[in-house]
Amino acid sequence: MPNVDDLELAKFSALAHRWWDRDSEFRPLHEINPLRLDWIDSLAPLRGRRVVDIGCGGGILAEAMALRGARVTGIDLAAKPLGVARLHALETGVADLDYREISAEALAAEQPGAYDSVTCMEMLEHVPDPASTVRACARLARPGGWVFLSTLNRNAKAFAFAIVGAEYVLNLLPRGTHEYARFIRPSELARHARDAGLELVATRGLGYNPLTRRYRLHDDTSVNYLFACRKPAAAP
Ligand code: SAH
Repeated sequence: MPNVDDLELAKFSALAHRWWDRDSEFRPLHEINPLRLDWIDSLAPLRGRRVVDIGCGGGILAEAMALRGARVTGIDLAAKPLGVARLHALETGVADLDYREISAEALAAEQPGAYDSVTCMEMLEHVPDPASTVRACARLARPGGWVFLSTLNRNAKAFAFAIVGAEYVLNLLPRGTHEYARFIRPSELARHARDAGLELVATRGLGYNPLTRRYRLHDDTSVNYLFACRKPAAAP
């Protein structure tokens, strides 16, 4: 059974034409993008690096990494966001950026160890089997390569902020964007990473201040958080 939920893909396809509209449902992704991009670039400098972005959607992160000089492949299983990503890349005129409609698991079988860095952001909470996606990410990375993951924590505060706050009070996201049961605790994601043979190197949380409407990276992982993992270098 493929590790995909067609209803989830349909949600993103229905909105795809607004992906690059900063005032749309995708505003949060645009706002957090410089933060996660700088964090990734500081740990695993992007220039010249081969990167695959899993669940790339309309390409907000994939394109930004390519603009920093990485050779980027973005993959997703939703056709419409990929179409938007391709068009936007043409408009931007960015080199070294390819998009493919393929699952992480299938690409990992095709190109194991082919990437210096793997990014998989805000996607794991939309798949039926996130552990399988994390294993695919680990398989795609070369020995010594990096895997960057981000998702939503599962607790009362994350429910209040990510669903009630973002979808019902502040209208940052369309209602129904997130399903609480699919949120992933850091301890669970750490276990998936460990089971996939990855070492957890660094963790950051994403904070949102509704008054200033600003996001920032901090140490609090109680709502949205990011993991930086490494695949151990091959034994000598
Ligand atoms: N990673 C991007 C987009 C996040 S939105 C960013 O952070 O900017 C979540 C994306 O995951 C959507 O584009 C959706 O189509 C994709 N997605 C959901 N399930 C998927 C699956 N099983 N395989 C690949 N992509 C998937």
